[in-house]
Amino acid sequence: MNTAPSMARQTDAVVIGAGFAGLYMLHRLRKLGLNTQVFEAGDGVGGTWYWNCYPGARCDVESMQYSYSFDEQLQQEWKWTERYPAQAEILSYINHVADRFDLRRDIQLETRVTSADLDENTGRWTVRTDKGEEINCRFLISAAGCLSAARVPEVAGLADFKGKWYHTGTWPHEKIDFTGQRVGVIGTGSSGIQAIPVIARQASELVVFQRTPNFSIPAWNRPLPQEEQDAWKANYVEHRERARNTRSGILYQYSLRATADVDEAERQAEYERRWQRGGANFTHAFNDIFINRVSNDQAAQFVRNKISSIVRDPKTAALLAPSDHAIGTKRICVDSDYYATFNRPNVKLHDLRAAPIETIVPEGIRTASDTYALDSIVFATGYDAVTGSIDRIEIRGRAGVALKDKWSHGPKTYLGIMTAGYPNLFFITGPGSPSVLTNVIVAIEQHVDWISRCIAHMQASGQTIAEPRQTAEDEWVKHVNEVADQTLFPTTKSWYMGANIPGKPRVFLPYVGGFGNYTVICEDVIKAGYRGFAFSGQPQPA
Ligand code: NAP
Repeated sequence: MNTAPSMARQTDAVVIGAGFAGLYMLHRLRKLGLNTQVFEAGDGVGGTWYWNCYPGARCDVESMQYSYSFDEQLQQEWKWTERYPAQAEILSYINHVADRFDLRRDIQLETRVTSADLDENTGRWTVRTDKGEEINCRFLISAAGCLSAARVPEVAGLADFKGKWYHTGTWPHEKIDFTGQRVGVIGTGSSGIQAIPVIARQASELVVFQRTPNFSIPAWNRPLPQEEQDAWKANYVEHRERARNTRSGILYQYSLRATADVDEAERQAEYERRWQRGGANFTHAFNDIFINRVSNDQAAQFVRNKISSIVRDPKTAALLAPSDHAIGTKRICVDSDYYATFNRPNVKLHDLRAAPIETIVPEGIRTASDTYALDSIVFATGYDAVTGSIDRIEIRGRAGVALKDKWSHGPKTYLGIMTAGYPNLFFITGPGSPSVLTNVIVAIEQHVDWISRCIAHMQASGQTIAEPRQTAEDEWVKHVNEVADQTLFPTTKSWYMGANIPGKPRVFLPYVGGFGNYTVICEDVIKAGYRGFAFSGQPQPA
């Protein structure tokens, strides 16, 4: 095992990533009196919202909810301009937070963490970066994000393409103007569905290469009037508290009725009411949509009917209507004019199921049926989700075991926060926690607070090493799987299941038991003296 050389810079904590998670973690660690170094690969803070500056990028959680709650003054002062925040506005907000809390002085940009090795004798980590630095720390905290390892599929011929190509998750920061261009977009998940309508308005021709259609609900985005914000802010603390007790950390209207509790007319009226309100609230129209196939299909059919009522060409409408998966078991998309975009004369939908891409040629894309001449190609092909950002760091714990090897059959954690054999390594929104099924800022704050309390507990009790017990981890992994198996999620090949990455183990990555329930479990663990965790180590000097 590679242990810490004496020359390595010493610090108390290293945080990987300066997105929402890394910034708040740094803030809390400072309050605990810990010297902290944050490393961030980008040349600015913001994480996901730094990288995803593709056309149309916008959050699908409403502005008043998609922000930090930890500072009352911050949440009262910041003004949002739209119902759903655009990427640029979220990035301004994150930069504002970095300045307001004086966070930048502990953040090193343009630096990627490449490896971390545990020294079992000292319980400390030696972290290495792509800049050739070594830093030795007590606590190592991954704030590397769940959707940050962008994935460009292996397509033959890409290197020979004469035009420009982009991935939505690593979009260049200079303005890309597609005016007058022939553009191809590959992928119709949340990113593609947001980018396609905007690119269609610029491009002379747009070809959308679709492998699997997705369900999308209109956002009905609009300016956010001052009075609406003021009303929300008047009860911000209460709203946040209520959100934290919900299934997804978001104040949706969670129905208490099952689909079969109402007759067909009322059912349709409820779907319609939610469609008109917009957003992911739609999937909570009845409380059994995620667990009952028949109920799910009724909600899905409503959306399919909407698609055929919007898209004028029946063949295109049929191709856009998903029938291979239960609605919501792939992340539901939220759009602005997505389906109507296919009524434009300059937009064509290519069905990759009927005619897959054979190769990219210098002039464009050749499929089994057509060759499309293109000036630009946009890959909206997603991420190695949840574990990808952790896997690309060479992390070696006890006995030099690589985390990648420990997780070769799927990630194993206790509460999604720690993993046995890797003391003092914490994950913010790690696998096995609600993470991507929630308003991720709510999930981030809960994890950062929990980790901070754990470290404070160690400080108070003079312990230096925290590690989950193997039995606690095994029980948690079993619980995560059992809960997932009670839902329709595992029936779908999705990135939640690792199914979008060839060779990735098929396990359900997040915890689907509900954010509110999860926080109760985490609180109970603390109340029971950090049940399932072992603390050890020499008392630290005061
Ligand atoms: P994604 O949901 O994984 O979608 C990727 C798309 O690319 C899918 O349509 C996929 O088709 C297609 N694809 C992948 N490999 C392909 C290949 N080799 N050939 C052809 N098509 C291929 O990725 P995403 O759209 O970037 O979204 C990821 C997640 O990020 C979302 O689910 C959401 O959680 C988050 N996100 C949120 C927002 C928001 O807040 N509004 C916006 C963007 C992203 P298959 O389905 O057939 O694999």
